[in-house]
Amino acid sequence: MRNPAPIIATLCLGLLVVFLLLRTETPKPEPTQPPVPDPESTSEKPVPPKPTALSLLSENPVWTTLEAYQSSISRSDFEKLLTEIFTTDDTWREFILIRDDLAEIITSSDPAEPPFVLHFATPENTRPTPRLWKDTATRPIPPEGQPLANLHIAIDPGHIGGEWAKIEERWFQIGEEKPVTEGDMTLSVAKLLKPLLEELGATVTLVRSIAVPVTPLRPENLASLAAESATDDAASLRKFAERLFYRTAEIRARAELVNETIKPDLVLCLHFNAEAWGDPNNPTLIPRTHFHILLNGAYTPDEVRFADQRFALLKKLLQRTHEEEALVGKTIAETFAEISGLPAYTYPPGGNNVRPVPSSPLLYARNLLANRLYDCPVVFMEPYVMNSIHDYARIQAGDYEGLRKINGKQLPSIFREYADALAKGLAKHYAR
Ligand SMILES: [Zn+2]
Repeated sequence: MRNPAPIIATLCLGLLVVFLLLRTETPKPEPTQPPVPDPESTSEKPVPPKPTALSLLSENPVWTTLEAYQSSISRSDFEKLLTEIFTTDDTWREFILIRDDLAEIITSSDPAEPPFVLHFATPENTRPTPRLWKDTATRPIPPEGQPLANLHIAIDPGHIGGEWAKIEERWFQIGEEKPVTEGDMTLSVAKLLKPLLEELGATVTLVRSIAVPVTPLRPENLASLAAESATDDAASLRKFAERLFYRTAEIRARAELVNETIKPDLVLCLHFNAEAWGDPNNPTLIPRTHFHILLNGAYTPDEVRFADQRFALLKKLLQRTHEEEALVGKTIAETFAEISGLPAYTYPPGGNNVRPVPSSPLLYARNLLANRLYDCPVVFMEPYVMNSIHDYARIQAGDYEGLRKINGKQLPSIFREYADALAKGLAKHYAR
């Protein structure tokens, strides 16, 4: 008779996988935080933690992949990055115990599950940081006029646009004027930016090149997951399923494409910022415009409690993406601000999901799904305010060559200014 043990073991494993894939958390109402500038850039809705809590549509992390980072970071660097960039309070202490020569990281709510042990680098034993992307410091000096040579840059035009713009709440219209749809605007910039970066020597891949979702899932495919996770009325359930589609499933599909296929050295996430516009058919225009860049960091207490986000935090920290994002981001930010004339955005006080980055008033750390899941440095652009009086007029003017008089000033098209300023910032950074 055949030994049934392997079959039983396989069945148990299968059931465990199904259980982990199906588990979801109950969403709680939107947190009462100060208004955020871009609804998309809000991280996944925080939900109450449960044992080995996982974010929506995420899988259980494989902690052993962090073995590659043994002895690659000193205790002081680890502690500094953890406390000054990646977290917003001391909640991490519930999950990470820092000893002299190692850190113990809780991976599961099961007390029988041993923690992941990370050994710190010492003067006698320091191993290089393993990573798939090329960092600025160790990159060979590029040839004259080709500062981006040997760099693979992925451009991720934020949102989907087209027929999806209303669903993803990145649409507004004033009277019979041209609707403002962020997903189409970011794609226009991406298409202008690609040849500029190629001229500078880069290999460039667009994460999407049409106004169609990358994910094969649609809101209707996520309706049952939404129903499991919420007990609200039909309209709220539909909204939740839509959000699961355009935010969670879409960004996860893009991350899979970036990490498994494109494998770039850097991702540029292109967005246009906005402030609360109220009714999309009668939007509020405001007098101010501004600019900032987001880097990965500032994991909130709720986010640190999710095993998958805790894992991602550590993987980012250990890959040393922050140092690279801060370096590239600073030059891009300064160049972009100089060319566009945009002032720095300042987050309203009291928010618990953002941290200023000390090296520049234009840089902030925030934990967004895209900059968390993309497995390389990510520069997440948030220039202009779509519902500012000034930028709205520029958006209505569309794309054009040369200069045109808008609001009494001779200005290039907002799309070309965006692409040119970003390309110049990258060229300046990598030419050094
Ligand atoms: Zn956006």
